[in-house]
Amino acid sequence: SDHDLIYPLKPSEMDWSPFYPKYFSSDSKESTKKVEIIDVGCGYGGLLVALAPLFPDQLILGMEIRTKVEDYVKKRIDALRAQNKNDLYQNISVMRMNAMKFLPNFFEPGQLSKMFFLFPDPHFKRKKHKNRIISPNLLSEYAYLLKVGGILYTATDVKELHEWMVEKCDAHPLFERIPDEELSNDPCIRCILNETEEGKKVARNKGDKYFAVYRRIEDPDE
Ligand code: SAM
Repeated sequence: SDHDLIYPLKPSEMDWSPFYPKYFSSDSKESTKKVEIIDVGCGYGGLLVALAPLFPDQLILGMEIRTKVEDYVKKRIDALRAQNKNDLYQNISVMRMNAMKFLPNFFEPGQLSKMFFLFPDPHFKRKKHKNRIISPNLLSEYAYLLKVGGILYTATDVKELHEWMVEKCDAHPLFERIPDEELSNDPCIRCILNETEEGKKVARNKGDKYFAVYRRIEDPDE
């Protein structure tokens, strides 16, 4: 259950120092840095590790609801930090949390530049579709947290879920699909398909992978 999850009442009350000790001193919540990239349902952390050297100046956070998995990722990051005496891997961290509930408690409107939703749980049954992490309501929340020009990445091996995510994102007024051919220079595409544990598993089983990438656009009514 979520009852034992601790979350701040508002983003300014969040203490990030345990997550990014190199960037936040423990006696102060003030820092020039803010989390800009999040991996929602990060699993075992393969994407975080791959993104760390690609975006050395940005703070990247994985969010994971399963305690044991979060624990694993924490240890993985601690080990990488210990092995790398330079600042490599100081910019990635993981938090146990239910991303379907509390995101706006952690981030200010427009704070995020990238959100990743990779190989999310498919929730096949129609009655369970409300548990899908991409939905019209949640997309409005994601649009609120992403800056204009920010990017939302989705990937899955489940064709039906891919079509669902595309349908919901296409229909949302604050998102616009980035055509696949415009993404050939985006280093994140290789990562989203090949660097997560789930993506690797699909590759081993020679399964298909689908992705769709969206840009947060300006609100036409503002
Ligand atoms: N993205 C990873 C990958 O590609 O390897 C993991 C994919 S796994 C199929 C989906 C993950 O999302 C699981 O680790 C699950 O515990 C996590 N998850 C599901 N619902 C969540 C939620 N509401 N908040 C945070 N994490 C969630």
